[in-house]
Amino acid sequence: MGPGPSNPYPEVMQALARPVVGHLDPEFLVLLDETCDRLRAVFRTSNQVTVPISGTGSAGMEAAFVNLVGPGDSVVVGVNGLFGERMCDVAARCGADVVRVEERWGRALDPQHLLEAHPSPKVIAVVHAETSTGVANEIAALGDGKGDALLLVDCVTSLGGIQVEVDAWGVDVAYSGTQKCLGVPPGLAPLTVSDRARERFVGRSQSWYLDLGMIGAYVGAARRYHHTAPISMVYALHAGLGVLLDEGLEQSWARHEVCGRALQRGLEKLGFSLFAEEGHRLPELTTAWVPDGLEDASARRELLDHYGIEVGGGVGEFAGKVWRIGCMGHTARPRNVTLLLGAVEELFLR
Ligand SMILES: *Cc1c(COP(=O)(O)O)cnc(C)c1O
Repeated sequence: MGPGPSNPYPEVMQALARPVVGHLDPEFLVLLDETCDRLRAVFRTSNQVTVPISGTGSAGMEAAFVNLVGPGDSVVVGVNGLFGERMCDVAARCGADVVRVEERWGRALDPQHLLEAHPSPKVIAVVHAETSTGVANEIAALGDGKGDALLLVDCVTSLGGIQVEVDAWGVDVAYSGTQKCLGVPPGLAPLTVSDRARERFVGRSQSWYLDLGMIGAYVGAARRYHHTAPISMVYALHAGLGVLLDEGLEQSWARHEVCGRALQRGLEKLGFSLFAEEGHRLPELTTAWVPDGLEDASARRELLDHYGIEVGGGVGEFAGKVWRIGCMGHTARPRNVTLLLGAVEELFLR
């Protein structure tokens, strides 16, 4: 849901307004280290390389691939939505031999199909929470069965909203984005890398800017300048993670769960059919078929103009046919669910 009915965390807004210091200022470096510690807590990992990458979630995706994947490497990618598709594009640009494991949009991937797709891939890559379809893909079974492969997981729409267990699930590389369930404006991509994955980095990453060997030296103890950290965004992420950890990760997951399920039940009561497969529905991103007789773009525009609620449109072949309703981070509040359901009823169903 959009910014109208629910303001961002005040702590985050205050952090954005803090005076800007130099990127090697000792005070900033303490805050950067604390931010990395908070990211370890939220990813549930002890990985030394756990950093906010400068750039949005896609920069996290690209950083993960360019450091791990070189020409001729076999990469198995799960594709059941837009972001799995994007992973294939990024891996192919690294020269990978991409093995696609597809599932219909709206359905979850079968972990067994991913594990059986190639006898010895370097990387198995999957999107945990497919924002284009509202589907959750299972991760733990991939960690159990991955063998020598490295497990690379997109946690952009899962981190902070549903359970993510980097170490316990055997995830080697995970990245996220600030503007989804972390409730921080867009601009950074939290990323974490296991020691096992670091040992298998490509010799020389094709990207200078996203070379994790060089970035690691910037956030590590022996700091060397690599690129200027986006100071205000790091402040904002630090504050947002503080809010999340003060609430408690489990409490945040529970809040997303309660709101998402209430939204899904409410929509069904109003006559909507949900798009994502039952049993694999994300609480933080609900997809529903646009009912007959409702004009997609103008209906979403009315929700925005009259109630300040932003509903996402469908993607790809589902453009105009499906709604994507985010209920994430600071917007995952029961009052927002009530407002949306009331607004839909008032505007379109009376
Ligand atoms: C939003 C999103 C991305 C891309 O993040 P940007 O911040 O738009 O670059 C990648 N993966 C998933 C699953 C997403 O939802």
